[in-house]
Amino acid sequence: QAKRDGRNGCQVFTPQTAPMDKIRLGLESALHHALERDELRLVYQPQVSVVGQHFVGAEVLLRWKHPVLGWVSPTVFIPVLEDTGLIEPFGEWVLRRACQQYKRWLDDGVVGLNSKISVNLSPRQFRQRDLGERIQAAIQDTGLPPTSLALEITESTLMYNLEQGAVLLRQLRHLGVSIAIDDFGTGYSSLAYLKDLPIDYLKIDRSFVKDIVTDRNDAAIANSIIGLAHNLGLKVVAEGVEEQDILNVLADLGCDQYQGYFFARPVVADELPLLIAGCD
Ligand code: C2E
Ligand code: MG
Ligand code: MG
Ligand code: MG
Repeated sequence: QAKRDGRNGCQVFTPQTAPMDKIRLGLESALHHALERDELRLVYQPQVSVVGQHFVGAEVLLRWKHPVLGWVSPTVFIPVLEDTGLIEPFGEWVLRRACQQYKRWLDDGVVGLNSKISVNLSPRQFRQRDLGERIQAAIQDTGLPPTSLALEITESTLMYNLEQGAVLLRQLRHLGVSIAIDDFGTGYSSLAYLKDLPIDYLKIDRSFVKDIVTDRNDAAIANSIIGLAHNLGLKVVAEGVEEQDILNVLADLGCDQYQGYFFARPVVADELPLLIAGCD
């Protein structure tokens, strides 16, 4: 982080933070080549119904293998992609690859038409003027039924430009694509948008899920989110479910779907069919 020099307005890097900036610059230049050097991979995490553990879809998550550092977490490199604008081509790559893969699974009978592939959209992706057209093109080019695609956005992504976002969401609803609000409850935003916009799912953030068995406040928050969603006709997905006890609480609260290490970690494409076969 840069500290402003009071007298001449020059940016001064403090010794402690300078290495961080170097690391970031290093990541940035390495990321520029990640696509062409084939260092990106997609993993898929199954989403299943809370009752009966039926397969309802999968969330696609991006992975990057740096030639020297090895696997780098998306929590580290997505912000760099976001700041540099690289998220636009990378996001397009994720969207197209995921649609292509899911279409193949549909054709092979691995997944059903009542399930969906969920793709995350960053704030910058969501601001792209032609995003609706890009999504439509990805669907058309891959042959994926639009009803088999869900897009995940956070509240803050939506709030950044609510007017443009609302137009886009209606365009997507018209296509048949579903919308999930990711990390629900962690942002600072009003709930008013929920009644006006075509949203299909609320995803309860892992921060409310992980201690739900012991923390009454977390349970109260989850209960409220589920009640709110159901009253508005939305479905609820809990994320980060790691234990049976957590699942039991979510079942008592009437949560619809979940994903998490308890059912499965995100896996490479080759491994998903086996996980789905174990569902029923
Ligand atoms: P997210 O969309 O909230 O994704 C859920 C994160 O929780 C994933 O982390 C997933 O691996 C992790 N997770 C799932 N189940 C469990 C569990 O039981 N326990 C724990 N501790 N963690 C669990 P991941 O893959 O590291 O992704 C982090 C974030 O990076 C995502 O959060 C999403 O915001 C972003 N991201 C990942 N892939 C993409 C992408 O392709 N495009 C964009 N725009 N963002 C992405
Ligand atoms: Mg997500
Ligand atoms: Mg999430
Ligand atoms: Mg999350």
